[in-house]
Amino acid sequence: MTIAAGCDVGSLTSKAVVMKNRRVLGAAIIRSGPKPAESAAKVMAAVFEQTGLSQKDISCCVGTGYGREKISFVDQTVSEISCHAKGAKWLVPSARTIFDIGGQDCKVIKLDPRGNLEKFVTNDKCASGTGRFLDVMAQVMNISVSDLGALAAKSDAPVTFASVCTVFAQADVIKLINARRPAADICAGINTAMANRVSMLANTIRLEKDICITGGVAKNDGVVTALNKILGCRIKRIKRVDPQLTGAVGAALFALEKKNEKN
Ligand code: ADP
Repeated sequence: MTIAAGCDVGSLTSKAVVMKNRRVLGAAIIRSGPKPAESAAKVMAAVFEQTGLSQKDISCCVGTGYGREKISFVDQTVSEISCHAKGAKWLVPSARTIFDIGGQDCKVIKLDPRGNLEKFVTNDKCASGTGRFLDVMAQVMNISVSDLGALAAKSDAPVTFASVCTVFAQADVIKLINARRPAADICAGINTAMANRVSMLANTIRLEKDICITGGVAKNDGVVTALNKILGCRIKRIKRVDPQLTGAVGAALFALEKKNEKN
């Protein structure tokens, strides 16, 4: 029986997934530290503790994410784009477009009808349109980023931001708090500003349905609701696993394929 692993060392979080015969046996998410090699070892240790497995049980491991080249125990590395495409297609077979929104970048990935990578666009130059924008805003509001969606759902008069720039929007949030605007309306405005930025990137590529969303920001219901509204469609949510794990799932699928090729 082939047991394979995927390890995704991102800028903000590190993720690991262990799979056996295309079934997820265990998964872990931790905050990335300054050294990618250490983050990778730590997240693998977490998944081993959960599953009772050890490194010797893993026939093949694929590394991905910005820190992939520093992981010592991988058999191969694969780009995040390919891993998110692979994982998303497995989790949402009808997916033709993937929004991967992580901590420091946002990618729009297009697949052909067979699930092969067709093209992609990335925003990695600016914090707006990335998880970092939401994290900064949540911090200013003194709430957890995981509450942004639920709070925004209570809004009936979302605020609008004059600029998508993180620095300017941060100053605006402080002004709005001091003007006693309800937190729900500010949260709804933050999620909408984020979704507007993502849709600007998406508009540079012809969107093909179905659209699905991966990365940590896929857990923010407020951003997904705002994107649905702006794009006039219904984004497919990943339910089988935590959507933040999609890249690691894709890496584990590549590892399984690599092992099976060898046999
Ligand atoms: P990376 O791979 O670049 O490290 P992730 O895909 O892990 O990034 O995404 C990190 C982002 O996900 C954070 O910046 C945060 O905005 C968002 N996020 C993480 N957990 C949650 C949650 N429970 N609810 C809402 N947003 C979340």
